[in-house]
Amino acid sequence: MSQRVFIRDLQAQIGNEVTIKGWVDVRRDQGKLIFFDFRDMTGKVQGVILPSAPEAHAVGSTVRPEWVVEVKGKVNQRPERAIQKDKQNGDIELEILSMSVLAEAETPPFDIHADTREVNEETRLKYRYVDLRGDRLQKNIRNRAKIISYIRNFLSGTDFTEIETPLLTKSTPEGARDYIVPSRLGAGLFYALPQSPQQYKQLLMAGGIERYFQIAKCMRDEDTRGDRQPEFTQLDMELSFATEEDIMAITEQLLIEIVTKLYPHKKIQTIPFPRIPYAEAMAKYNIDRPDIRENKEDPNLLAFCWVVDFPFFEKNEKQNGTGGGLSQWTFTHNPFSAAKPAHHEKLMSSKASDADLQTITAAQYDIVLNGYEIGGGSVRNHKAESLLKVFEIMGYDSETVEKNFSHMLHAFRSGTPPHGGIAWGLDRLIMLLENEPNIREVIAFPKTGEGRDPMMESPSEVNPEQLRELGLIVNKK
Ligand code: ASP
Repeated sequence: MSQRVFIRDLQAQIGNEVTIKGWVDVRRDQGKLIFFDFRDMTGKVQGVILPSAPEAHAVGSTVRPEWVVEVKGKVNQRPERAIQKDKQNGDIELEILSMSVLAEAETPPFDIHADTREVNEETRLKYRYVDLRGDRLQKNIRNRAKIISYIRNFLSGTDFTEIETPLLTKSTPEGARDYIVPSRLGAGLFYALPQSPQQYKQLLMAGGIERYFQIAKCMRDEDTRGDRQPEFTQLDMELSFATEEDIMAITEQLLIEIVTKLYPHKKIQTIPFPRIPYAEAMAKYNIDRPDIRENKEDPNLLAFCWVVDFPFFEKNEKQNGTGGGLSQWTFTHNPFSAAKPAHHEKLMSSKASDADLQTITAAQYDIVLNGYEIGGGSVRNHKAESLLKVFEIMGYDSETVEKNFSHMLHAFRSGTPPHGGIAWGLDRLIMLLENEPNIREVIAFPKTGEGRDPMMESPSEVNPEQLRELGLIVNKK
């Protein structure tokens, strides 16, 4: 059997007999002639069965779109009048000599050549493997991989170490609801899935790693919306001995490189990225993620900006709720942030009852693109007493903090360097680079707006034996 040639490479095979493998994209039966478009992961090409190939004709008249075939044929240059200039392989045609069927296909549940964003979401996600075959999702998913690979190369080349942190972990005060996982060996005990690797990455700084990154899955049990999913992907980073400036500079350089190398047709509105203090953003745009694009009609304009100088604390709306302690105050970003150096003393001498707590500024920064928050981070408190102070202001007694964060406190008492970091919401960034309206378009297997996966039919019930082993009784409302 001759070796398979990728459709992309057929240009170099004019005059040769080749074998291609892939899907029937389109079939046009004109009786004597049967035309096809074939598709593989590298592209599309037109093929034709001439009356001089009766065996191929017999097979070709049975195959249907989405069947998987192996085709042997001769690569011919098209005559001048038949050349389609703007089309991949528009100047060649495969004269089909033989065709065999590798897999048949039922009629697809929707037309993958149309804009599948119009298709009912339940149906699209149920048959996501069919949806993924379309040009747009193929492009999005492959470009996603290119971005991630660019990030990996960039960071690995600048002394960052990629480290995986656990998925089975402990409930953390990141501000959202946890997904919890029952423990079989410890009945009544639960792991939590990470809302982010925040504590682990800080513990890696305690562990002398100095520069960490991870393409990290984060799970937050929140109501989903367009730019949110129950599980999403972060580019997570942490750096020792780094200031706000250092972390912002690396982020900015990497973002600029991703755009200029992978999306050269796009224009970054302003470099260096403008910095907008939180108070100014609220006063001028009434939002902490302003869309500063000069021209909102231009799909290729990328207006990055930083929002800086966030207040450390804000009034706790959900008293005693997620993340909040017993006081009226909660953190704006996460409890591990440090105050700006000039505000550190004020933080350390503050009490929860102080009215001017809101005037303490955090060493925190958000990166915003076209009105979406695509990342955020902070320089951290790396001393136990500062972390205790933050929790005290939020109304946690020191016993509770010692119990829940003894590992952090002990790490900070064991020689942890000053450190800080950032996490990017990768799905959102890719969504914007790909001009998609929704992160579901750049995730291979996303969930519905209600957090369900119609393809796997999850979440689903488990069998009674599993529940018994876990010591769980389900109380259906
Ligand atoms: N863990 C934070 C988040 O998920 C990011 C950071 O501070 O590095 O928002």
